[in-house]
Parts: sequence; C-alpha cells; structure tokens
Amino acid sequence: MTISELDLIEDANRRARAYLASVEKRRVFPDVATIESLSIFEEDLRQHSLDAQETLCMVDDIGSPATVTSNGPRYFGFVIGATLPIAAAVDRLAQSWDQCASSHINSPAAAAIEKAATRLVLQALNLPQEATIGFGTSATACGLSCLAVARRELLARLGWDVDQKGLMGAPPIRVVVSKMVHITIIKSLRILGFGLQNIIYAPVDAHGRIDPEQLPDLDDHTILCLQAGEVNTGAFDPFAPLIAAARQAGAWVHVDGAFGLWARASRDLRHLTDGLEEADSWTTDGHKWLNTPYDSAMAICRDGGAMAACMNADAVYARAEPDAQKNLTLEFSRKARGISIWAVLRTLGRDGLDQMISRHHQQAQRLAQGLLEAGIEVLNTVVLNQVLARLDTDERTMALIKAVQDHGVIWFGGTRWNDRAAFRLSVSSWRTTNADIETAIGEIKSRLGRL
Ligand SMILES: *Cc1c(COP(=O)(O)O)cnc(C)c1O
Repeated sequence: MTISELDLIEDANRRARAYLASVEKRRVFPDVATIESLSIFEEDLRQHSLDAQETLCMVDDIGSPATVTSNGPRYFGFVIGATLPIAAAVDRLAQSWDQCASSHINSPAAAAIEKAATRLVLQALNLPQEATIGFGTSATACGLSCLAVARRELLARLGWDVDQKGLMGAPPIRVVVSKMVHITIIKSLRILGFGLQNIIYAPVDAHGRIDPEQLPDLDDHTILCLQAGEVNTGAFDPFAPLIAAARQAGAWVHVDGAFGLWARASRDLRHLTDGLEEADSWTTDGHKWLNTPYDSAMAICRDGGAMAACMNADAVYARAEPDAQKNLTLEFSRKARGISIWAVLRTLGRDGLDQMISRHHQQAQRLAQGLLEAGIEVLNTVVLNQVLARLDTDERTMALIKAVQDHGVIWFGGTRWNDRAAFRLSVSSWRTTNADIETAIGEIKSRLGRL
C-alpha cells in the first residue's frame, strides 16, 4: 500500500517532534556501536520500488540515533549554532512551497521576502543600506563570489574586461590575506586561479589580528581580505587603520565575517568591528551564529551593480531583474534561503539579537573562568564566543579532548595553536543556558580529575 503525501509528511513531522524533544538529553556525539549501525546504508540501487514510508523509517531508525546533537544545548565544537524554532518552522513551510527562488517571475513570494531579508540584514549589521545581498549556500560560496566581483572590478578599473578577455595577459591582481585566514578563502582563491604561491600573507599579533605596522604594500591591483572572528581566538582584525590604508591605495577590501560579523548586533561587542563598514564586500553565515538552518549565507557588496554584473545569468528564456537572486549568487535554481534569515531577524528584532549574541559572549567568558579555576591554561582573551585552552602537555590535552568526547555529555574539538595541541569551545546555540555552561565546566573538571 502506498502512503499518501500528507500522511508521509505527518509521519515525518511526528518523528521530527520526537527528535527535537530529545535534543536536551541525547548524547552529544553518537557512540561507536550506533555509528557502526550506519553501515546498513551501504546498499545498491534496487530494481523495484519500495513503500516511501519504509525509507523514511530507515532514516529515522538508523540515522537519527547517529546524529551529532549540534542542534542541542551542549555542543561547543565549531561555531555552528542550532536552529531557532522560527527558522525551523518557516523553513519547513517554505519547503512545502518548493519555490525555485531565482527571480520574481519564478516566485514572487520568495523574491519579496528575500528583498525584505536584505533590508533587515543590512540594518541588523549596520552596513551601508544601499548594499546588495546574494543569499548563497555558504560563506565559502559567498566568499568566492565576492572575490570574483572584486577581481573583475579592479581589472575593469585598470581597463581590462575580464569577461571578454579572460585572465590570460590581464594585469596581475595581488591578494593580501591574514596569516590566520580561513581555509575557505584560500580554497576560493585557488579555484579562481590566483595561484597559492602568489598569495601574500600579512603578519599577525599574538591574538591572531593583522598587525597594521606590518601590513604588506597595497595598491589599486590589490584585494585585501580581512577577518571578523578568527576561528581559534575569535579575534578581529583592526579594521579602521587597515581599511583606511587600503582606501588610500585604491585596493578592494573584503571582510570574512562568517560568524563574527554578528558581533555588530551586540551592544557589548560591536566596538570590535568599528570601521568594518568601510569595506567593499563582506560575507557572513546565517547557519552559524544567527541560528538559521544550513545552506544559508550572505555575499554582501557595497556596489550592487558590480556584483550583479559579475554574477549575471540572464538567458533568452530566463531574463530577470538585475538584482534577482539568480543574478547575485552562484546558483541558477535555488532555494529561498533568505526566508529563514528574514524570519529570525523579524522575530528577534534588535533586542533579541543583541541578547542572544551578548549572552553567548558572557557564557564563553564564564567557561574560560571555569577552566582557569580548574587549573587549565586559557590561551585567548575571550573577546567573542570562543575559548582556546590547553593542558600542560600535548598528550594530556589530547587525552582530555578524547575523554570528554567519549563520555558524550558535551562536545568540543581540538586544534593547534603556536605548534601545540589545544582545544576550543565555541558558544553559539540559542539553546545553551547558563546551567549548561556550569554542566560543561563540571564535566571538564570531572574528566580532568580522571585523566
Ligand atoms: C565557517 C567559516 C567559513 C566558511 O563558511 P561555510 O559557510 O562553512 O562555507 C569561512 N570563514 C570563517 C571565519 C568561518 O568560520
């Protein structure tokens, strides 16, 4: 018997409810046996059709137990946030709409709401209100888009039409990045053909911020990539002096603020980003600190015309307004991912956003204090939501990480800092309460006591 569409969706909703009801109590990382049971997915394409419900069951029965509870309150690995209820709800509804959110002609509703999202994002982040936003899949894709726009525009200013002539024989465009640049910027530069050996690295201070005194020379052939929120320390580059220098030289400034850009929404933290609004382009994610579902990121460009010219994908059968989302992002057919971003910003408002971001900062400070009390060395000043720490030897640091991960009450990951093993805790889930922070401190102390 074939189940109807509505019954199937209802069953999925029931299972989703049960899953969400469990996230406070679940192990944060699945145990070995549960992970091993995933081998059941290694099957070949079958000849005959199955009942759809059987497939849904398999995903829930085998998949759900083996998930990482990053949508719960005690996941401190990476800054990946959870999903706010309004974001999850709107995303579910929009899934039923199944819009191809390319342009107004494909989906008037999606186009209108993503336009509304643009306005709210620019207001929340206090960026130039005339800027344009392409809602892309990731900070990676959006960073790649912004870097392509930057190069095209710098070349155009130098009299080179890269669309027509390509890169062969073009004036060379230099790229200066922080020594602590995120790997996805390097990936984008590599894919775009800049050449890894041509990347110029700017020296950083002990916190991982570019040192303005040691900034490599800039000129009008240069893209300068700055960072709002370093992944280990949460540090911000000193934007005001760096961007002033870039402006003077005629360079393009791009800011990678995958999670850190949201510091601008917090009264306590926004000073860290002073001057950042003078850049030419910015990327940020919704799916990290804004707590929207995955595949929700933003490429923000001061000169919307430059972005639209670079990203245009008009065809004779599919022409659209220059700022249609298909003409601002890498995708042609796309999900209306701006809807959940809009819904979160509309629902939280300035106060709700400020409270969430500021609270995560305070919780990270409390975590750092708890680690210090336990005699653990904290390596960073907690400027944002990141805590970087280590024990006296690399062996003990790694052993603590493993012990915590195996026990399953909280989860955080390792990193390397100044050539030594370290671990990092990020606070970014709307679900994380102060009591969860105390649980985390207690758990770390207790695992440490058993090492
Ligand atoms: C996560 C991250 C990225 C990449 O973002 P995705 O959305 O995962 O592609 C880029 N830069 C920084 C600083 C990040 O933390």
